[in-house]
Amino acid sequence: MISKRMQKSLEEAISIRDIFEEGKKLAAIYGKENIFDFSIGNPSVEPPAIVNDTMKEILDTQAPLALHGYPSNVGHPEVRQCVADYLNGKYAASYGVENICMTSGAACAIALLCNTLLDAGDEVVTFAPYFWEYKSYVETLYGKLVPALCNQETLQPDETTFRAAFSEKTRIVLINTPNNPTGAVYTEESIKMVANVMREMEEKYGHPIYLISDEPYRKLSYGIEIPFIPDYYDDTIIVYSYSKTLSIPGERIGYAALSPKMADVNEVFAGLTASMRYMGYVNAPSLQQKMLLKCVDAAVDVSVYEKNRNLLYDSLTQIGYECIRPDGAFYLFMKALEEDDWEFCQRAKKERILMAPGKAFYGPGWVRISYCVPYQIVKDSIPAFKRLYDSYQ
Ligand code: PLP
Repeated sequence: MISKRMQKSLEEAISIRDIFEEGKKLAAIYGKENIFDFSIGNPSVEPPAIVNDTMKEILDTQAPLALHGYPSNVGHPEVRQCVADYLNGKYAASYGVENICMTSGAACAIALLCNTLLDAGDEVVTFAPYFWEYKSYVETLYGKLVPALCNQETLQPDETTFRAAFSEKTRIVLINTPNNPTGAVYTEESIKMVANVMREMEEKYGHPIYLISDEPYRKLSYGIEIPFIPDYYDDTIIVYSYSKTLSIPGERIGYAALSPKMADVNEVFAGLTASMRYMGYVNAPSLQQKMLLKCVDAAVDVSVYEKNRNLLYDSLTQIGYECIRPDGAFYLFMKALEEDDWEFCQRAKKERILMAPGKAFYGPGWVRISYCVPYQIVKDSIPAFKRLYDSYQ
């Protein structure tokens, strides 16, 4: 018998994975090429060759016991130094080895930070729509996720809802740019607003409020600059992941970078180190850490996603759908053609189009289209989107 807390959570979950599983069933009936499966964010571009080559080289040349043994909880020092050097070189920052903690992807880093910073009842503000699992990371630790609805015309953070989301219990603001599920890249103006309001709230409530910047899609942007968040707010922790940048989500590697300028940085780092054990992660995978020594700056060919984005956005808007042009990640947020986005997704299935309902992201009335699929699938899906649109006229 599972816990009541877990039971409730299972009942509430709108599982995008269920849609994905359904897609696999449909593919078995109609053939994979005839299903337009835009339900899940699994990268579709090959990892850069250097990733596999480096792993092979490491396996062939390094002593197995040392390679596969436990590294320290926060990671191999030379790998942490390599990440610090990368950040310092790229953003003229001053990270040291003592600021970098290697993690099993971004998910692990956010969960560890929640464990480190939250007491029961503490609050985490995030902009909605948001990545569904934020709620799980926060509520597993008896915290409360407080959504601040984005401007519905631009999908940028909105100052009024943001201000209203704060209370004396706010400990963390969690942002994600480029964004899942909307594909929006927060502008410099938005980031400045976030930083100004947060400084004001720190002053008002008399304690640090940490800004966690969840950045798995930082390198997936299309001709647009993404502000480096620690330049705008001192109490910033970057959470980074190589899942999407290198197309290796199954390998579980990322890091948390604590700004050297942030309040109580050493104490937070010590908490993070202990959380790694307390929460059962122990350490990030050793082989994947070492791979980064050669691949820290590598990235997939982003033009493949950009080509999908262009075709999809242009075609859908031409048909008459209302969408916000995504500047990053591999998601497009589109208005559903009826009030209930879940029903809209059900109806789309008749055209063999699979999408994730906005409700799953605290974005009712919208749907998320994950365009990390082969270009041909995007191309072939357009007539199906047109039939779906026409069926509502
Ligand atoms: N944050 C966001 C916004 C994501 O979209 C994802 C994965 O899709 C994650 C975190 C988790 O990524 P990781 O594979 O690094 O744990």
